[in-house]
Amino acid sequence: MFGPLGGVVSDLDGVVYRGEEPIPASVEAFLRWRRLGVPYAFVTNNSTLSPDSFARKLSRFGVEATPEQVFSSLAATVALMKQRWPRGARVFAIGEAPLLAAIEEAGFALTPTEPDIVTLGYDGALTYEKLRRAVRGALAGAAVIATNPDPLTPTHDGYDPCVGVLVAAICAAAPNARPIVVGKPEPLMIEQALAWLGTPRAQTIMIGDQIATDILAGQRAGLRSILLAGDSPLNAGAAARPDGIVASLLDLFAQPRGRT
Ligand SMILES: [Mg+2]
Repeated sequence: MFGPLGGVVSDLDGVVYRGEEPIPASVEAFLRWRRLGVPYAFVTNNSTLSPDSFARKLSRFGVEATPEQVFSSLAATVALMKQRWPRGARVFAIGEAPLLAAIEEAGFALTPTEPDIVTLGYDGALTYEKLRRAVRGALAGAAVIATNPDPLTPTHDGYDPCVGVLVAAICAAAPNARPIVVGKPEPLMIEQALAWLGTPRAQTIMIGDQIATDILAGQRAGLRSILLAGDSPLNAGAAARPDGIVASLLDLFAQPRGRT
């Protein structure tokens, strides 16, 4: 349905799988691309797993991938923190173990009080106490950095609140906070994926299930952006328009029509 395809940049949650359940047509599509020699890379706003863990999860679902093929908001966030703050800066982070470990490995000091930086990532064990510490840090003037802006994340049985909800909470409580939000729709991870793929932008597509993050990021990076249509409650009111919409990634293998 599109011109010659050189490479694929794809979102993970909601495209390749939902939570712990693979999406079979998508798995089949990546198998075909692999057979056809079309290189692919993944860009995810999910900050709960390391690239190794994402690669293992993909392999478990039947999609061959190496850690080098996965670009995550976890790595992008920690890289940005390293660029802007010195080693030893004090960080209060809401997030799961891999994010906290990466922050410490980068030379920052995790602290419950008086942080220089408040880092917000997805945390399935979020508590009022964590939110309170983040708000206190923001009120005291700490920089606020969030792994991604998504208000919702898809799971096998619906949608769960995501990091955008935390960002909104901090902004409500500390109106002077100016959060730096990493992840899509910022095109940084798409650029990283393109550099890894080495394919021309005009022949590379971005696939995602969220218009406000995936599609916008792809378009900002100059890629044709394909929406995998689903039940996302957020897409109806989104401002950007995908370049193509498919119900299944296998639709991308359909023969072009109307041209001879
Ligand atoms: Mg998604």
